This record gives sequence, C-alpha cells and structure tokens, in this order.
Amino acid sequence: MLDRPTPKKRAVVIGAGFGGLALAIRLQSAGIATTLLERRDKPGGRAYVYEDGGFTFDAGPTVITDPSALEELWTAAGRRMADYVELLPVSPFYRLCWEDGYSFDYVNDQAELDRQIGAKNGRDLAGYRRFLDYSKAVFEEGYVKLGTVPFLQFRDMVRAGPALARLQAWKSVYAKVAEFIEDDQLRQAFSFHSLLVGGNPFATSSIYALIHALERKWGVFFPRGGTGALVRGMVRLFEDLGGQVELDADVERIETASTRATGVVCKDGRRFDADLVASNADVVHTYEALLGGTKRGAAEAKRLKGRKFSMSLFVIYFGLRRHRPEIMHHTVCFGARYRDLIAEIFNGNTLPRDFSLYLHNPCATDPSLAPPGMGSFYVLAPVPHLGNAAIDWEREGPLYRDRILAYLEKHYIPGLAEDLVTSRIFTPIDFKSELNAHLGSAFSLDPVLTQSAWFRPHNRDAEIGNLYIVGAGTHPGAGVPGVVGSAKATAGLMIEDALHE
Ligand SMILES: Cc1cc2nc3c(=O)[nH]c(=O)nc-3n(C[C@H](O)[C@H](O)[C@H](O)COP(=O)(O)OP(=O)(O)OC[C@H]3O[C@@H](n4cnc5c(N)ncnc54)[C@H](O)[C@@H]3O)c2cc1C
Repeated sequence: MLDRPTPKKRAVVIGAGFGGLALAIRLQSAGIATTLLERRDKPGGRAYVYEDGGFTFDAGPTVITDPSALEELWTAAGRRMADYVELLPVSPFYRLCWEDGYSFDYVNDQAELDRQIGAKNGRDLAGYRRFLDYSKAVFEEGYVKLGTVPFLQFRDMVRAGPALARLQAWKSVYAKVAEFIEDDQLRQAFSFHSLLVGGNPFATSSIYALIHALERKWGVFFPRGGTGALVRGMVRLFEDLGGQVELDADVERIETASTRATGVVCKDGRRFDADLVASNADVVHTYEALLGGTKRGAAEAKRLKGRKFSMSLFVIYFGLRRHRPEIMHHTVCFGARYRDLIAEIFNGNTLPRDFSLYLHNPCATDPSLAPPGMGSFYVLAPVPHLGNAAIDWEREGPLYRDRILAYLEKHYIPGLAEDLVTSRIFTPIDFKSELNAHLGSAFSLDPVLTQSAWFRPHNRDAEIGNLYIVGAGTHPGAGVPGVVGSAKATAGLMIEDALHE
C-alpha cells in the first residue's frame, strides 16, 4: 500500500470503534490525510475501558481471534505490531459449564478434544471430525475468500452462490452441527459461537460455523494490558503515521451537496471538510440522524428500520477482593434451557426468567488488570433489544444484576458477595444512549443469510458516491475480525476512488 502514489485527499472517519480505527490506519497508510472523530472521551467504541478504584474493565470484546488481520494493519503501515501491543495466547479457549456440573474445556489440542468428546459420547468422535472439515470449508469460502471484499453488486452475490449452495448456507449453524453431533451438550458446545457476533445459532447461516475453524487455526488471544491496550496501540499507530484523533467530537451531521458528501459538522460547531467520509457509527444513526433531512438519509433509514436487529446485552463489571485463578479466563455458563431461551432472547417481548452467561476473568491471563491479589471480572447475559421488549431497565437493571451475581455466587464464585468491591452495569439503554445503537442492539443487523453480504448495508453508499460505511453494520459484520475485515473492504474502495478521482 505504501508504494502507491499519494492521493492528496482528506478523509473523515466518524467513530473510533475497531472498524473505524482499522479503516483510519489503512487510509493514513495510503497517504490519505485522515481525521478520526469520536463522540466519547475515549476511543474503542464497544471496546471502551472503565477504570474503577484500581480495577480495569474492558467493556466489550475479550476473545481476540485472527491476529493476522490485526498484524496486517501494522504491515500496511510499514511497522511491527510487536512494537505496539503484545497478544497473549489463552488456553483453554473457553471452559463451557452446565448446571448439572458437566464442563468441557474447549482447547486447541486435538488429542485432548478427542478425549473429552469420546468420554461424553463415543459416537460423536467421528462426527466432530466431519464437523471440523465442514467448518474449515466454510472458513475458506466465507472468511478467506469473501470476508474482506465488498459486495456492491448483486452479481457479486450470484458469484458466491454456488459455493454457498454447496455448503448449504441456508441451514442454521445448529442444524448443521446437529447433522454431525448427537450429544445435546456437545451440540451446544459447537454451536454457541455465532452468539459471540450476535447471531442466533438456530437462525444464522451455517456459514458462521467458520468461527470454529478460525479459532482452531490461529488460537484465541488476549492483549497484555487488556483489549484497551490493543485499542491504544492502534491509536498510537494511527497517530505515528500522522493521523488526527479528535475525542469528544460528537458528529451532528454529514454535509452533502447533490450526491457528494463534503464534510461533517459536530454538535459543538466544529466542521471538518473532506473528500471522502466514512461512518463507523451505527448504520441507522448514520442515515437517520447524520444524513437527516436528506432524501437519501430518510429513505435508507426507513428501509433499515424494517430489518431485523440482533439481540442486546446486559453487562456487569465487578471487582473482587480476591483473585480467582481457578476460574478460566473465558467461561460460558449455560443455563438449563438452550433453544427456548435463545428464542426468547431474539424474539420474545419480556426479559427471560433464566439466563446463560459469559464470564470474563482477565486476571487469569493478566493480573495487572486489578490491584495486587484482587480480580476484575465481567459477566454478560444476552437480552432482547429495546424494539422487542419494553423493559424498564432503570428499575430492572439493579434487580437483574443482583439475580445474576447471586447465581454466580451459587454456581461459580462462592463468597462473591463478601468479596465484592465495586460494580457497574451496562444495559440496552446504554447501548442506545452511549453508542447510538439502534434499538440498543449490541451487534447491529442480525447476521441471518438474508441480511448478509450483498443484503447487508454496502461498504459504499449506493447514491452518495464518496460516503462509506465501516463496522458491524456493513459487510461482513460484527466481531473484531468482522469489523477489521470490513475496514479492509471499505479502505480498498476509498483508496481506489481517491486515486481515480
Ligand atoms: C459486551 C460485548 C462483548 C463482545 N465480545 C466480543 C469478543 O469477545 N470478540 C469479538 O470479536 N467481538 C466481540 N464483541 C463484538 C465486537 O465488540 C463488535 O462487533 C465490534 O467491536 C464493533 O466495532 P465497530 O467498528 O462496529 O464499532 P463500535 O465499537 O460500535 O464503535 C462505533 C463508534 O462510533 C461512535 N459514534 C457513534 N455515533 C457517533 C457520532 N455521531 N459521532 C462520533 N462518533 C460516534 C461510538 O461512540 C463508537 O465509539 C462484543 C461486543 C460486546 C458489546
């Protein structure tokens, strides 16, 4: 990228989530003078960091996969990632636990996986091998070939059609896993992954089974110092390249003239002119608010609001007086119900009475995230988004927190209440107010097949030729590898457009 002619162009990227940051780095590396505008006081978006009384809480992503996609950003910039951030391997990837006391350590060691699968259900040993082959095949098609290319024309979708058909992409992740694996808990163990990027395993395309192969290929990592250290490393890289980051820069509107974006204006009156404008903000917010008053904005916002949005999350960040090394870094706590609970989370209109949880214990990998001898944690429960369930989170939030912490104390962390030093919650209302997330969705548009690839909002707007989208709401979708991949697709378009104007 560095040896290409330098286009004398200016770009503005709205939003410093992983997608916005990765895009800004790629643009600046290509010689496009880029300004990154973030409405909050810190970069990171869903990967924001809270600091409470010596505890460091990464707000969002904690399972860092495909380090090669991150490494590429530094390579594009002619730098070394190792000079900015250190990724520590995590093992087991996850400890999966059920209420009946069964647990499965999801590791990257074939013999150990075979041992655990064989002990649970001998007939699933062969089935798992066939599932792994399937997962590798969808990984090649869905991630390697299609994960970082923009789908702007329907013919791009048609081209991908035969491979999607061969891989039976119309089936759900769970249906596909169930073809290979008999045991109910093992079916859960190999199908829950799509939830990590906001996909319902019973409705999301089986293409998302690729996450299993992706994790097996590269492993699961955690940045030393937390996910926030990765964000800070990306910001430093961008600034070292000459890029400009403006925090507390709440963009109010994207200015347009005819079918061109000309710049953006912040709520405090600051104006940034640009030849190219990209939005990493929520897609509905981008069209409805930032392009409010334009015909394009109104029409696209209306269309997008008719689409299906992914679930929201309820998160509790809490600090304990005692470090708990016996709790794995990533622990998934399956509740008594799987299919029915997920159906209620995605389609129900109330807060389900039970929950399945993801428990984060980063101090298992990096004790520096809490005061000496103590532990920082977070626990999250998937919950319905605000459009499906009108839950009064002001009232329910503290009650729900107490129920979840009591459940953790009973099943996973005895003595939790006594050890509790600090806690804070983040509800669907906060996704909406802090991140401008439509319906408080944690992952933007639901990644079902009919809302993926060409069917997802495109990386370049169809009418405003120099307006681009990056992040969870565009192709390929949510998750750190997804949004970093979207940045590659979007940057490719922007750099080409800048060269040819
Ligand atoms: C709790 C949680 C846990 C997760 N865990 C994982 C995980 O372990 N692994 C994984 O791969 N993924 C995980 N994900 C998903 C992943 O975090 C997201 O898909 C990804 O980080 C989204 O990145 P993004 O680029 O779309 O931008 P976001 O992170 O959504 O950032 C968008 C930014 O735009 C800013 N913005 C919005 N409006 C404006 C405006 N008007 N002006 C200026 N700025 C604006 C926002 O403040 C925000 O900073 C998790 C998500 C959550 C919520």
